[in-house]
Amino acid sequence: MTLNHLKIALAATVCIGSGSPGLAQNSAPVAKVTAATPPPKLVVMIAVDQFSADLFAEYRGKFTGGLARLASGVVFPSGYQAHGATETCPGHATILTGSHPGRAGIVANNYFDLSVARDDKRIYCAEDESVPGTASGGGKYAPSVNHLLVPTLGDLMKARDPEAQVVSVAGKDRAAIMMGGRQADELMWLAPTGLTSYRGTTLSPTATQAGTAIAAAIAQPRPGLALPADCAAHDIAIPVGDKGATVGTGRMARDAGDFRRFMASPEADGAVLATAAALRQVRKMGEGSGTDLLIVGLSATDYVGHGVGTEGAEMCLQMMGLDRELGDFFARLDATGIDYAVALTADHGGHDMPERNRQNGWTAAQRVDRALDPDALGKAVAEKLGLPQPLLYGDGPFGDMYLSKALTAAQRKAAQAEILARLREHPQIEAVVTADELANRPISKHAPDTWGLHDKLRASFHQGRSGDFIVVLKPRVTPIPESGLGYVATHGSVWDYDRRVPMLFWRKGLAGFEQPNAVMTVDIMPTLASLIGVPVDTGKIDGRCLDLLSGADSSCR
Ligand SMILES: [Zn+2]
Repeated sequence: MTLNHLKIALAATVCIGSGSPGLAQNSAPVAKVTAATPPPKLVVMIAVDQFSADLFAEYRGKFTGGLARLASGVVFPSGYQAHGATETCPGHATILTGSHPGRAGIVANNYFDLSVARDDKRIYCAEDESVPGTASGGGKYAPSVNHLLVPTLGDLMKARDPEAQVVSVAGKDRAAIMMGGRQADELMWLAPTGLTSYRGTTLSPTATQAGTAIAAAIAQPRPGLALPADCAAHDIAIPVGDKGATVGTGRMARDAGDFRRFMASPEADGAVLATAAALRQVRKMGEGSGTDLLIVGLSATDYVGHGVGTEGAEMCLQMMGLDRELGDFFARLDATGIDYAVALTADHGGHDMPERNRQNGWTAAQRVDRALDPDALGKAVAEKLGLPQPLLYGDGPFGDMYLSKALTAAQRKAAQAEILARLREHPQIEAVVTADELANRPISKHAPDTWGLHDKLRASFHQGRSGDFIVVLKPRVTPIPESGLGYVATHGSVWDYDRRVPMLFWRKGLAGFEQPNAVMTVDIMPTLASLIGVPVDTGKIDGRCLDLLSGADSSCR
């Protein structure tokens, strides 16, 4: 089954795109949106995982579908996920909370709690570790919103008006959960079985039908995609690993049932968008007296970036496919005649694999030294100082690091001194910053493009969840020690290639403008709240309302 077949199947079962009776399509001239225009009936928040400002800039002139439409609206090309730990969970947590990850309590995808009973002490950002028999690894945890410490826009909308509908659909659980919040009416993500949600919850009939159609699509093999002429320049094979494999020239073909490859293709984004459109229609979102919120998390771009890097033919196919899928989705919304507003951003940026960077003018790009792995480092220091093991906990060769609680105060001091000395003399280390240096530091009030290292790390810092110290790699050191098929490139650093994301706003009749100065993803929530008249306590968030009306009028109230 191709994506088109999936859409047709979904359309047949849940009437995608047929338009609701009574909502005539409006062919009258478009009225310009002003401060006096009533709020939109539907807000659509879209997060495209790993859609960096660099990707947006590179492909902007080639978009003809949904992304071209958004690029004709209000464009902030220099949006910032301003914080230091530019991972998926923290990034999605900023978008609809107006809060930096430190305030939101989502410091990383995984953090460590040395007081929990489980052996590895690792906590996944979107799990409930109190559920017996669970672990933080994929497929073993109980998905949960518990660790998110602040309300989302949807939570505020529901608190004001319980009739407001909030639906969150994403490729990844952490995207659906961190943007959806605690009060979403429906919240789901893709799975090998189609769609799934929290343990113990039952999907609605519409979501069940969509999931069945998605599972049927996954079960079919997919031939390779044709490479558009615009992508030809990217079609260069880059060797990875030591078994003669290459990336860069892929066409996204996959075998029947290959869920991993399904996820790393526009097919997955199309499935999420088709599901979102179906749920909107059946729930009549945007057709009531107030405003509803439809949240969409598109994860395929991130899977492509990790698997084959950001500058190959595969990413070009993904960008073209994403643009087309978004265009189809907006066309379905247009057909309803509903006055809807769209915001699109990303949870973080991204950085290409060092092997391709070295071929494309960045000869100094490198992979991280294995010796920086926290397990290896902790072992070496414990053996030297005669300390109990495991000594050091960390989720990789950078970011938050935690010292064992089994140490005496003197041992702890000695261990930290030895570890910091080893790290600070390593040529790939930019800095090691301790929790003490961040704990009492205020959040920077300056624009995020001027932030220093401590400002970025402070925005990620949460006392109690962050590490004892934070390791920062030099720019363009990819924290994956070896290239191999499956995972060749990543993000997560404090550097701007991982922090900068586009922020795009569109609504029919809204005059477009471009604002190239730096803004933040924490500004999105107060901007949308103001647009729909939901009051926000600005003392409890980090963002500010961005005025979406050019000229003297303001959409901020
Ligand atoms: Zn990622």
